[in-house]
Amino acid sequence: MPPVFRFAPSPNGYLHLGHAYSALLNFDSARRSGGRFLLRIEDIDATRCRPEFETAIYEDLAWLGISWETPVRRQSGHLADYRQAIETLAGLGLVYPSFESRAEIARLVAERRAQAAWPCDPDGAPLYPGVAKRLPQVERARLLETGAPYARRLDMEAACAKTNAKTYAKTGALTWIEHGQGPEGETGVVAAGAEAWGDVVLARKETPTSYHLSVVVDDALQGVTEVVRGQDLFWSTSVHRLLQALLGLPPPVYRHHRLILDAAGRKLSKSTAATGLRELRGQGATSADIRRLVGLP
Ligand code: GLU
Repeated sequence: MPPVFRFAPSPNGYLHLGHAYSALLNFDSARRSGGRFLLRIEDIDATRCRPEFETAIYEDLAWLGISWETPVRRQSGHLADYRQAIETLAGLGLVYPSFESRAEIARLVAERRAQAAWPCDPDGAPLYPGVAKRLPQVERARLLETGAPYARRLDMEAACAKTNAKTYAKTGALTWIEHGQGPEGETGVVAAGAEAWGDVVLARKETPTSYHLSVVVDDALQGVTEVVRGQDLFWSTSVHRLLQALLGLPPPVYRHHRLILDAAGRKLSKSTAATGLRELRGQGATSADIRRLVGLP
């Protein structure tokens, strides 16, 4: 079976050099290995994603000389798939509703911090304090009955215990195969440490999925065998491996690549005159110039 690669941008802004690097690495790897290249539009965040950004993704990638299989999978059109996966996890007793607002969670974290140090996840965000998990059953039922909106969270402790019992007993640990590198040079067989993320959100209040859940479901449904993406997502792979183990999905191999930085050494977050593909094209750059700028042959 030929390897299957994918580039999975979110249409919440215009593409920049960092996206170009990632897309070209995937595309070149697929070409070199006789593999397939898929484009996936990760548009579950209805408040930030816009059709003009999606159109621009197609234009900019075509300009770079990249072609992809059609139809393109757009996550917003597959919410039922994600719902089903959450129900599978709920059936394992691993999902609970979390009714708090962001402000309430921030207040709960501040309360904890007033007493002692409070841990952060690998992205630097404070861990969710887990109050909704300990909500008495009657109170939870009452809130559900009022129709209060809620997110659905993974009970990380229970999820890890379940995979420990099933997977660790067989293999020693939940791991993934890394052909690239983590932030500290991690490579080869990497141990997944999903506990570090706490009770992650599986479905948000406003949409029945989340980044972690939909990426895992889609990679499996699309038969993706090689995930090539930025190093900023390296430790997210721990959560992805855990979800794959719980859902019985085959793990791809991973290659996390270096990030393209701006002149001040920061990760690119939005396109600017110096880094945006549209802007650079407007200034007369060619796709060969873009390859050179990101250090690709
Ligand atoms: N949609 C994610 C992003 O734009 C990438 C997801 C992935 O490659 O796993 O950052």
